[in-house]
Amino acid sequence: MAKKRIATVWLCGCSGCHMSFLDLDEKLIDLAALADIVASPVADVKEIPECDIGLVEGAIANEENLHVLQELRAKAKVLVSLGDCAGFGCIPMLRNQFKNEEVLDRAYVLAESNALGSVPDQEVPALLPKVRPIHEYVEVDAWIPGCPPSPEAIWQAVSALLTGKPAEEPVLSYD
Ligand code: SF4
Repeated sequence: MAKKRIATVWLCGCSGCHMSFLDLDEKLIDLAALADIVASPVADVKEIPECDIGLVEGAIANEENLHVLQELRAKAKVLVSLGDCAGFGCIPMLRNQFKNEEVLDRAYVLAESNALGSVPDQEVPALLPKVRPIHEYVEVDAWIPGCPPSPEAIWQAVSALLTGKPAEEPVLSYD
């Protein structure tokens, strides 16, 4: 049986969901027998390739997030959102109580760590008016909840998708 192809991306979050994915430890060996990781945030992949499963962590905060999400949705046969930020906005949505200008000022002008003292003209993706969960932009086939989801929950969901066997831990669907 041909190996399946998995692409993973992170959007606006803390990368903790991906860390939980990597905490699969020896199950990563089992996963490698079933699937190839064809794109991930730690690989230098310019364009998301066609894949069987897209795993996406994080909420949508800026235009770059939205572009990457739409590309992944177009390339993935099954799109799985990973974690509470992707599912309902969670921590990144705390930004929504501030205007975009205030957010940029806090990040780039008021932050003591900023040597520039101003918002850079380039290299900052345009913020969307509000941070939103990903299913408000694209169709999501399944959601693995948690902050982060446990490695076991991720394994149950991904291995179920790869093998067709039912998952023991809950994988919530938007259907
Ligand atoms: Fe980080 Fe939690 Fe959001 Fe995952 S759900 S990206 S662990 S804050």
